[in-house]
Amino acid sequence: MEFIENFIDGKYLAPATGQYLDNVNPSTGQVYAKIPRSGDQDLSLAVAAAKRAFPIWSGMSVNERSAILLRLAAGIEARMDEFVVAESRDNGKPEKLAAHVDIPRAVSNFHFFATAIEHFSSESHYMEGIGINFTTRKPIGIVGCISPWNLPLYLFSWKIAPALAAGNCVIAKPSEITPYTASLLGQIATEAGLPAGVLNVLHGTGPEIGNAIVAHPSIKAISFTGGTATGEQIARIAAPMFKKLSLELGGKNPTLIFPDVDIEQTVKEVFRSSFSNQGQICLCGSRILVHEKIYDAFKTAFVRWVESAIVSYPSDPKAQIGAVVSKGHMDKILGYIELAKEEGGRILTGGVRVHLEAPYQDGYYLAPTVIEGLPNTCRTNQEEIFGPVVSLMAFSSEEQALDWANDTKYGLAASVWTKDLNVAHRMADRLEMGIVWVNSWLVRDLRTPFGGMKDSGVGREGGWEALRFFTEPKNIFIKHE
Ligand code: NDP
Repeated sequence: MEFIENFIDGKYLAPATGQYLDNVNPSTGQVYAKIPRSGDQDLSLAVAAAKRAFPIWSGMSVNERSAILLRLAAGIEARMDEFVVAESRDNGKPEKLAAHVDIPRAVSNFHFFATAIEHFSSESHYMEGIGINFTTRKPIGIVGCISPWNLPLYLFSWKIAPALAAGNCVIAKPSEITPYTASLLGQIATEAGLPAGVLNVLHGTGPEIGNAIVAHPSIKAISFTGGTATGEQIARIAAPMFKKLSLELGGKNPTLIFPDVDIEQTVKEVFRSSFSNQGQICLCGSRILVHEKIYDAFKTAFVRWVESAIVSYPSDPKAQIGAVVSKGHMDKILGYIELAKEEGGRILTGGVRVHLEAPYQDGYYLAPTVIEGLPNTCRTNQEEIFGPVVSLMAFSSEEQALDWANDTKYGLAASVWTKDLNVAHRMADRLEMGIVWVNSWLVRDLRTPFGGMKDSGVGREGGWEALRFFTEPKNIFIKHE
């Protein structure tokens, strides 16, 4: 049995309580490691270390900080295979996906912010004949970064990289379900020359160590990605303490398909936008709205394509769909499939657990599922399922598609499929989403603002948005004589 430890002050430490939690491999359903059940004492150690490290790290030149973060990116890249296997063992995703998406994008996050900080500038405003305003942007101090299990290192690094680049010290908590790659990062950080105490990684549960990080008075900003209900709890604690808050929350994203598309091509793209990472990407489209003129043709081709998808164990190079992340999450998804049937939905394909052969017979595999016949207002079409389950609906006009697309409490992302540039512009303009992709999905440019409207979040990550979040602006006015 492997023991993962906290990374505090540049050292791997056992939790003060001596208590550990099970870490399960979702592809087999077996416990394979133990992680610390951290509490207040571990947090106090991390805060003390971060306080000592802050003057050192924030006092370094931007060039020095950038060089260390570039070495950190190179350190992950040099151990790519190890990170890929670790990520997919923790999460259940196909290794192929971790090798093409998760780990390379974590490398890119460090690379991007290591170089972005060298170009980050603050504003100045000249007042003719009166004086000049200029704004300084300094690191905040100690910041808390809390990330989810679906894209573990990718989303962990998406927060940590800008926080560190801006000169902050970080206390980070990965999801207790997927702690492994965040733990490996400690080794890489040390080898890259990151001073002890600049990055501290604490493991444990959300309600315990996650909550303690949010409530700690010395932690001045919280960057959180996770569910909307958790985001609400975090805001309740952090807002009255006047902490800076970045909340990237859930979604119920629409995929809008207009009648002029190439159906065969669109089916392949929509398969990817629906079922990548077993549908466990906040940006996956789960409500597929298809124009009535092509509804039957699209449905037939889509269901055929989904039925042919290979559900298999993560190291199988042919696997298109791996295991979902946990037994609890699998049961939740199966519960939603039952709900869909009760609400009058017809299961066109999937809807069941898949049992692979030994040693994967107890893994958490689900057949990708397509449902039709549900109104947009039902719970299946309104609540985030976050699994390989999509619902097909036929619309008759642009207006109707737009009404349905916008009619949820969420506003994270949408994809629009059409060859008509006017339709694309009209929809993109009126969709109440933080991100709209036209004839594409999950094309990422790290310079762009990333995040959602409505209950999908507060604030944006990415590019200058992230560097602004992780710095405190001060405007200084100098009067002319
Ligand atoms: P959770 O909200 O359950 O957890 C997210 C993180 O918060 C985990 O590290 C969790 O710890 C921690 N946490 C849980 N409770 C608390 C608490 N009271 N105080 C502080 N921290 C807490 O989300 P999931 O991990 O289940 O992730 C799935 C959700 O994330 C989905 O809703 C998805 O849409 C959303 N998401 C949003 C993205 C976006 O950019 N908008 C991107 C990716 C995912 P632990 O796991 O140990 O409980």
